[in-house]
Amino acid sequence: MTSNTPKVGFVSLGCPKATVDSERILTQLRMEGYQLVPSYEAADVVVVNTCGFIDSAKAESLDAIGEAIAENGKVIVTGCMGVEEENIRQVHPSVLAVTGPQQYEQVVNAVHEVVPPQQEHDPFVDLVPPQGIKLTPRHYAYLKISEGCNHNCSFCIIPSMRGKLVSRPVGEVLGEAERLVKAGVQELLVISQDTSAYGVDLKYKLDFWDGRPVKTRMLELCEALSSLGVWVRLHYVYPYPNVDDVIPLMAEGKLLPYLDIPFQHASPKILKAMKRPAFEDKTLARIKKWREICPDLTIRSTFIVGFPGETEEDFQYLLDWLSEAQLDRVGCFQYSPVDGAPANALEGAVPEEVKQERWERFMAHQREISAARLQRKIGSEIEVLIDEVDEEGAIGRSWADAPEIDGAVYLNGETHLTPGEKVRARVTHADEYDLWAESLS
Ligand code: SF4
Repeated sequence: MTSNTPKVGFVSLGCPKATVDSERILTQLRMEGYQLVPSYEAADVVVVNTCGFIDSAKAESLDAIGEAIAENGKVIVTGCMGVEEENIRQVHPSVLAVTGPQQYEQVVNAVHEVVPPQQEHDPFVDLVPPQGIKLTPRHYAYLKISEGCNHNCSFCIIPSMRGKLVSRPVGEVLGEAERLVKAGVQELLVISQDTSAYGVDLKYKLDFWDGRPVKTRMLELCEALSSLGVWVRLHYVYPYPNVDDVIPLMAEGKLLPYLDIPFQHASPKILKAMKRPAFEDKTLARIKKWREICPDLTIRSTFIVGFPGETEEDFQYLLDWLSEAQLDRVGCFQYSPVDGAPANALEGAVPEEVKQERWERFMAHQREISAARLQRKIGSEIEVLIDEVDEEGAIGRSWADAPEIDGAVYLNGETHLTPGEKVRARVTHADEYDLWAESLS
């Protein structure tokens, strides 16, 4: 954690519903790179989640606001007492913002105004898509399991910006996950810079959750999360050997059969220049083995084309690799230098027009693969988690689609469904990225 990491203090008063609100706000802020600190002095801003149920609770809330103002000065008020903004402002005119219960978006926006998030969205290094920076819908949530990274990929400045890997203790992560599920979250998206390395820094320390011992390690984390009865999706997984251990959980239906692995390239020469972790592993053979164990496995990835030194031969290697790997979902960026990244010093810069041309060829190539894989789903039965409903019908996702970055499943005419609901459906049609289906219920 660097010294310019924005820091938030949080005082949570009130009933379990208020705690759930606090959890939601904190999960969001943590995902955006804010650090939660336990003291007023260390905080750049303090959020007070109030209770307004009875007079004594209101008095306690006003006292807590007063204390935070005296100790820190920058205070945002939310929660049940927030509906009485005038009463709060009469006693404490210097509060920066007042919002009511469940107004997560407004609280997070107020924090952004006082202490902006650390950086603009950067597609090379950010964990969540730019849309995800807005507060996510209430039926899914990002679960951040660690900060920082032990690698030194040459195009990336995360290790210098956010430091080495620091895993959150597994008991803390599972407690957060449990509270999110109690709050109605149907899908947990596990994120970190390097999910497969979870716990390495803590030497897989034994922690406790619900009185049970659990190791701070990816497999044990996944096993425990799978007991919560919601969709669990893994992002930013590097193909280390320990990933093999979670594939059986996917085959048994305990974890979503979905892996987001940022391969970035396939040519050994370019991967070496990128200093990518696990670049020497026989990845194609691993993918094949995973699919033998779990035939439904969906693999999503991102790639960079036009990295310094990338020749036409390297690029062709990448296209051939894609044909072999048959990945389901793929994003692609053209290389651009990031201030402070070691790759800037590499020779062999690829001209912009060549980058563009390779990007177009890459996308066309993968589009065909993706379309063919989706065609095979026509006629199959899938479970769909509804994300939104408009006048034409419901729009959701299958287990093969992460929110914001993958495709959608359209259920035309199903206007009676509600976001967060899960329905069984039969796939009737597919294009390059999306599916259309009919509800079976
Ligand atoms: S694995 Fe590489 S790209 Fe990812 S955060 Fe670490 S250094 Fe950056």
